[in-house]
Amino acid sequence: MLSPVPLPSYGSGRSEREVRLAVLRPGQASPIRPSRCWRRLLLGTRTLMVLGLTVTVMTMAGCHRSSGEIPGLQLPRAHRSASTAAAPAVGATAAPAPSEPTSTAESSSGGSPARLNRSLAKNSIYAVDLGGTRVTCTVKVRSPKPPLKDANLAPYGKKLVSCLVKAFAKPLAIYGIDLTAPKIKAYRKSIKTPCGRFGQRGAPAYYCSITRTIYWPVTGDNGSEAYTFARLGYIGLVAHEFGHHLQGASGMLSEYAQRSYETKSRSERYLLSRRLELQAQCFEGIFLAVTAESIGLSSSDRDQLRMWHAYTGDEDPPGSRKPDHGSSAAQIRWLNRGMESADFGRCNTWTAKKKSVK
Ligand SMILES: [Zn+2]
Repeated sequence: MLSPVPLPSYGSGRSEREVRLAVLRPGQASPIRPSRCWRRLLLGTRTLMVLGLTVTVMTMAGCHRSSGEIPGLQLPRAHRSASTAAAPAVGATAAPAPSEPTSTAESSSGGSPARLNRSLAKNSIYAVDLGGTRVTCTVKVRSPKPPLKDANLAPYGKKLVSCLVKAFAKPLAIYGIDLTAPKIKAYRKSIKTPCGRFGQRGAPAYYCSITRTIYWPVTGDNGSEAYTFARLGYIGLVAHEFGHHLQGASGMLSEYAQRSYETKSRSERYLLSRRLELQAQCFEGIFLAVTAESIGLSSSDRDQLRMWHAYTGDEDPPGSRKPDHGSSAAQIRWLNRGMESADFGRCNTWTAKKKSVK
């Protein structure tokens, strides 16, 4: 999760990523909350469920106010903060069905299909260990220096995404995970998407799982307080959003959406959100690890990443943030896990103890 990196001297910078989901009936144009009866039916007949559970993963960040929405579900209006009203209203009008057939893929070793485990806790992705793997990216790191010209943002993002796909597609395919490139959409002013309307000030980037697109506000990298204060800011941001894309490709977002919807506990939803966001953080770290030589990952870069996330934690500023992304310490810890191991199996936030995802 998290991304943007506000500098201390600029005040309350922080990044926030949210996951929202909408539960849809087939053909329904907008998210609804089912009645209790319907919900019981839904819970009891999971295999018959013909709902589209959609998760929209977004990155909210910067020095702006938190959008305040609870991850996973849209809160009743009464629970929203004043700042929420200005945040993009996120909803879904279309969704991939959670009951997609299990994906299979030919194993590169024996030819037998690898059955995809789409669950959060035992997902097939955890078998992918890229320790020792080296990937070369041709993309220049922070060149030209930020802010990029608006017209260059999407092309640059696409290059980064291409490298992410290059790094992960083949090893994931061995385990049945079909990875395609998400789209990149840089936009001016605001943009209306199936996941809601996004503006320029809410976040440095948004990932919408419905359209499999990373939405990138063109002014997000302007100014010295932007996430680009870090040399690897652009890469980190896109890699984190791509982490959510990986969660979608591996099927995890479906279970996440379902669990987030089913729980009646707000704190439990926050916990789910933190596990999701911190995992994306870990996935970001894996990408930085496998491309370390190519992008020249240095101790200085690590320091900048630490500084970045020192201001993106749920604890900053005190009391004004919802605990949906994890503390700075947790964000750094999970990022480091990915960077130090390059092992997806080390990124299982879903079986981690609660204290490690606080
Ligand atoms: Zn995120």
